[in-house]
Amino acid sequence: MKYKELYDFGALALMEAGIAEASLDARLLLEFICHTNRNDLLVHGDKEVLKEEQDIYVNYIERRKAHEPLQHITGEQEFMGLVFEVNENVLVPRQDTEVLVEEAMRCLHDGMSVLDMCTGSGCILLSLLKYSNGCKGVGADISPEAVATAKRNAQKSQIAEVSFVESDLFESVEGRYDIIVSNPPYISTGEISDLMEEVKVYEPVLALDGGEDGLFFYRKIIEEAPEYLNGGGYLFFEIGYDQAGAVTDEMKKAGYKEVTAVKDYAGLDRVVYGYMS
Ligand code: GLN
Repeated sequence: MKYKELYDFGALALMEAGIAEASLDARLLLEFICHTNRNDLLVHGDKEVLKEEQDIYVNYIERRKAHEPLQHITGEQEFMGLVFEVNENVLVPRQDTEVLVEEAMRCLHDGMSVLDMCTGSGCILLSLLKYSNGCKGVGADISPEAVATAKRNAQKSQIAEVSFVESDLFESVEGRYDIIVSNPPYISTGEISDLMEEVKVYEPVLALDGGEDGLFFYRKIIEEAPEYLNGGGYLFFEIGYDQAGAVTDEMKKAGYKEVTAVKDYAGLDRVVYGYMS
């Protein structure tokens, strides 16, 4: 089969299965298998695809038809210009989370230390370290599989000044940090069943479920973080679009200063931060 024929087959199959971005996903899977880019589809559509590549493609299309996330099939997701390994044990890094990294970057000066609570794939911490000078960091996660994934991602992005610890929130965390960042699970338990199949069936519920009102982890982290922050240290959260008010109030009540909400590129509240004097 030719490249273009294979792509047409994939796009149609995904569209008929009701996959939202059928043609995009069909193209990305083909490019992933054939190590090509968009240009090849446009310019070299007549090129024959190797039989073994065709077979892999048909298999990947079947998996995607069953709503398996594209990133679980390819095993990777780009975030802040870096490529992260992802699997069923970690949340797939979301583009929205880049706003958290960009905001935290503004307070992260040379040589500072960072703690990433609920680190998952490690995408937040590793991006912060990649784009700063002489900073070091610790990532904590309750899941041993997530910690193992984050460690592989550190190697992959060649970041040495980092360690990861299996920890139920701060339980096994030591030391104090200049910045604590966290994108904790924040979907309320009752809303998990409304999520799209790609998320609710394939992504770890541990990384999503924020308790009855979605705020469980914010409260715990807000309460315990001061013991792990250096004087003047910042706490940065990613939040759900309707959580800015609640998280801001909790932080102010707990004594954080200049608590600020920041919007994402869609105009939705996405980040809340403040510092402890
Ligand atoms: N910190 C990781 C991320 O933002 C994982 C977040 C989580 O598991 N809730 O992608």
